[in-house]
Amino acid sequence: MIRLNPNLVPADGLQYTNPDGVAITAPDFRQLVAVVTEYRRLGNLPRGNPELEITEQLCKAHPRLCIRETSRTRLARVQDYIETVLTEKAANRLRRVEADEQLQRAKICSACRFNVNWDKKCPPCGKKLFSRMACLRPYDPLKGQTCSQVGDELSVAVTLRNQDQSTLVPTECWRHKK
Ligand code: SF4
Repeated sequence: MIRLNPNLVPADGLQYTNPDGVAITAPDFRQLVAVVTEYRRLGNLPRGNPELEITEQLCKAHPRLCIRETSRTRLARVQDYIETVLTEKAANRLRRVEADEQLQRAKICSACRFNVNWDKKCPPCGKKLFSRMACLRPYDPLKGQTCSQVGDELSVAVTLRNQDQSTLVPTECWRHKK
């Protein structure tokens, strides 16, 4: 995942160029998201995902303002996610979605640029974690893949209800649906 470092805001604020070419400036990220959202609403423009679009544009133009996830943090996030899901399972709180919904989600993830591998850099870690998560009945074609925006294990995430409602996912992402 890449995100803006909230502690690094230029003195003249942050500027984002909307797809219609209009430049919008605000003192910090939260306010910039709010102004862009309102600008699109008032102009009857496509709502899109201002938080994600601003992050991507600014991090491309000013990489020093951003924090990028490393392969080590990616693995750590997946491990944390699996342990959390196992805890939920032990408490009998896991709720699964139907097979056709899992398939739809998997199709969306397969075409998504945020779907990235996590186990190739450390095969022993992958083996260990695959064994831990076997009882979660993962959706096998996505095993070893993670959503770089959310940090979960996609083969498990697509099977479960109550997903993370991260705003840093594209508009086509299934997480936007209830
Ligand atoms: S952003 Fe959504 S569609 Fe993309 S990889 Fe993550 S969960 Fe899948």
